[in-house]
Amino acid sequence: GGKYYSMMIRSVIPGGVLSSEQLLAQLDLCDEIGNTTIRLTTRQGIQLHGVLKENLRHYIKRVNEIQQTTLAACGDVCRNMMCSPLPIKANVVYDEMQKLCWDLKEHFKPRTGAYHELWISDEETGEKQLAGGGDGGPDPVEPIYGPTYLPRKFKMGVGLPEDNSADIYSQDIGFLGIVEGGKLVGYDLVVGGGFGRTPSAEKTFAAVAKALCYVPADQAIPAAEAVLKVQRDFGNRADRKRARLKYLVHDWGMEKFKTKVEEYYGGALEAPRAVAITEHNDGMGWGEQGDGKWYYGLAIENGRVKDEGDFRLKSALREIGTTLAPPLRITPHQNLIFCDIEPQDKSRLESVLRSHGVPLTEDVSLARRWSMACPAMPTCGLSITESERFMPGMIDQMDTMLAELGLQDELFTTRMTGCPNGCARPYNSDIGLVGRAVGKYTLFLGGSRLGHRLNWIYKDKVPSDEIVPELRKCFELFKAERQPSESFGDFCDRMGKDALLEKCG
Ligand code: SF4
Repeated sequence: GGKYYSMMIRSVIPGGVLSSEQLLAQLDLCDEIGNTTIRLTTRQGIQLHGVLKENLRHYIKRVNEIQQTTLAACGDVCRNMMCSPLPIKANVVYDEMQKLCWDLKEHFKPRTGAYHELWISDEETGEKQLAGGGDGGPDPVEPIYGPTYLPRKFKMGVGLPEDNSADIYSQDIGFLGIVEGGKLVGYDLVVGGGFGRTPSAEKTFAAVAKALCYVPADQAIPAAEAVLKVQRDFGNRADRKRARLKYLVHDWGMEKFKTKVEEYYGGALEAPRAVAITEHNDGMGWGEQGDGKWYYGLAIENGRVKDEGDFRLKSALREIGTTLAPPLRITPHQNLIFCDIEPQDKSRLESVLRSHGVPLTEDVSLARRWSMACPAMPTCGLSITESERFMPGMIDQMDTMLAELGLQDELFTTRMTGCPNGCARPYNSDIGLVGRAVGKYTLFLGGSRLGHRLNWIYKDKVPSDEIVPELRKCFELFKAERQPSESFGDFCDRMGKDALLEKCG
C-alpha cells in the first residue's frame, strides 16, 4: 500500500551552459529515477519528470556532485538566469554577457544552509559537501532577500538588440547589452515583464518589461539589486496573484518606481538608451565561433530528449558526449548547441545524429523550429489541456497549410501552453495558444518573434481541430495583403483584431 508521489525536478543552468559530462549525468539520472526522458526547458534548464519522492535525495546529491544545483530553480527567489547562448568568440561581447549571467546567479543565490543540510550532507557522518548553491554553513542572514525572501518568483535575462533570444521583455529584469566600438559598455535595464495571468481575475495581466535606465556594465548588478530590493519591500505580499514586480511597476508608474530604485541604489540613474530590438538569433544550424571552431544548433522538438522508435536522440547525445564531448548550451527555445567543434569533426557530428534517426536542423520546418510547447499533460499538475503531446501534430497540419500557400519560408513563433501560467511564453509570440478548457485554446495573434510586444486575443475557446483552419484564413489574408517583407505577426498587429476578425472571422 502507501502512496507514490511522482515529482518534477529541475536543475539550474545559468545561461544554459553545461558540459557533455553534466549532460551525460542527467541522461543517466533520467534512466535511473526519471521517466527515461529529459526536457530542456524554456529557461535553459533541465527538467526530469516522474521522479518518485524517495529518489529526490539521490538526484539532488548527484546533481550537486556534477557542480549543478536545484537550489533556486523554484521558489520566491531569482530563478534560472537566462542569456543569449551563442558561443561567439569573434569579440568579447558574448563572453561578457555570459559572465554577467553567471555573476548574477552567484550574487542572487540564496545563502541558506538548509538546502545542504536537507539534501546534500551525508546521513551517516553528517558531513557536508560543498557545491552548487548555499555554502553548507550555519544558516546565515540572507543579505539580499532578508528573512521573508521575495513576494514571488523573480526572473532575469541578458540579451542584445540583435539577439533577443533570452526574451528580455518577458523578464522581471531584462539586461539589454549596449555595444560601442566592439565593447559591451553597459546595459539598458527593462523591468516588470511577466507572463503568468488568471483569465478570471481582471486584475491580472501579462506584461512586457519597460525601460527603466541605462547603467555602465560594472553597475548592472548593484542596479539590479536595488530593483529587487524595491520589489522585496513594496511588492504585494497580501495577494499572490498580484505579487510579481510587473504589478508594482504598473500600480506605481515608472516615474515613482524609478525614484524609489534610485533611493535604494544611492544615486541618479541615467535615462535608458532605448535601443530597438532588431533580431532574435536562435543559433540553429552551423555557425562560426570566430576562433576557428564551429557551433551547431540542433532543433529539438519541445526540448524533449528521448529514444522512441527510430528517433534515438538520447543515444545520439550519449555517443556525442562520450566521443566529441563538446561544451553545450541549452537555448531559450528548448534547443541544444554543440560548441567548439573542429572543422574536421563537423561531418562526424552530423553522421552520429543521422545514424540515430535525428533530423538535422536543416530538415526541420521553420514553423516547427520556431515553435515551443510547455509540458502540460501528463506531467504538469496545473495543466488544463494538452500542449507538448498535441503540438507536433498541429505543426504537421501547419506545415501542410503553409506549403499549400507557398509560405513555408516565413519566420514566426508559435508557442503553446496547457494553462494561462504561460511557461512557454505564449504572450509575445506571433501566434500564442493557451489552454482554456479541455481541448480548447485561446488563440493570440499579433506578437513578434523579436519578443518586444504582447499579442492579443484573436479568438477564445477555439477547439483544437479548428486552430489550423482558423490560422489558414489569417495566412491567406496575410499572403494577399501583406507589405513586402512584413512578418505574419507584424501584419496581424498592423491589421488589428477588429479588421482581422471582419475579414477572416
Ligand atoms: Fe504547466 Fe501551465 Fe506551465 Fe504548461 S503553462 S507547464 S500547463 S503550469
